[in-house]
Amino acid sequence: MTSPAGAGRFAPSPSADLHIGNLRTAVLAWLFARSTGRRFLMRVEDLDDRTDTDVADRQLADLAALGVTWDGEVERQSAQRQRYDDVVDQLAADHQLFECYCSRKDIASAPRAPHAPEGAYPGTCRDLTAAQRAARRDATRRPPALRLRTAVTSYTVHDIVHGDYTGVVDDFVVRRGDGVPAYNLAVVVDDAASGIDQVVRGDDLLASSPRQAYLAHLLGYPQPVYAHVPLVLNADGARLAKRDGAVTLAEIGVTETLAMIADSLGYTARTLPEMLGEFDPLTLPRSPWIYRPG
Ligand code: GLU
Repeated sequence: MTSPAGAGRFAPSPSADLHIGNLRTAVLAWLFARSTGRRFLMRVEDLDDRTDTDVADRQLADLAALGVTWDGEVERQSAQRQRYDDVVDQLAADHQLFECYCSRKDIASAPRAPHAPEGAYPGTCRDLTAAQRAARRDATRRPPALRLRTAVTSYTVHDIVHGDYTGVVDDFVVRRGDGVPAYNLAVVVDDAASGIDQVVRGDDLLASSPRQAYLAHLLGYPQPVYAHVPLVLNADGARLAKRDGAVTLAEIGVTETLAMIADSLGYTARTLPEMLGEFDPLTLPRSPWIYRPG
């Protein structure tokens, strides 16, 4: 059952320990959900083979130590493979997919139409005949990825931080050549399956949201409202990384981490329930937080 007020979520990929930037995003996701009476769900995005169960456990323990609470069981994408396969089968049956034999290099070097957006799939495999497909299969000797045959080139999402955001929708991958469901598919299917109607995450994913919202629309799912929050950067303006010094909860400590996150948001509160009293989505900082380890 989904509650009438819907749900927010945090969806970490267990490839490395959460750093203070990820923790701050989780705190914001929690504040957005709880301040609007939503449930808050936790999902481990462990479809990729780079994922590590110990890392996932540490991520969840770190979130709990900060006071991030979630409803129900943690969902693990690795346990939901059937759910993604069913949607891929449904899209295939509706003739919405095509096989793609391109390598990254093929895509980077393909001629592109004038004004085609940077990084968008150039359409190489979109209209191959059965004979051409067979020839490509023989030549590449690897199983094809499946891409969505999109009917649009852009789509608009509503974002609480960025307003209406219009971005590129190309023929994006829904299942990788190795059979693993693509992130853009899994995230949409999971959010809909869990009744998630509020997606709060780092603004590095803003550009992916039109693809995801378009897929949700195609599948007849409700559109979530988005809030892509600014990332945390190091003093050089680059993404925070391990080499930047103390960046994880284990290195910084719970009290100091909470204090730094609260300060970065302009709050005097020092616990999550107290921060709820000061939280206002309209006064959120719009620029990246520059983190300097103490
Ligand atoms: N798992 C993704 C990440 O850790 C986030 C996915 C999402 O929030 O949609 O970057």
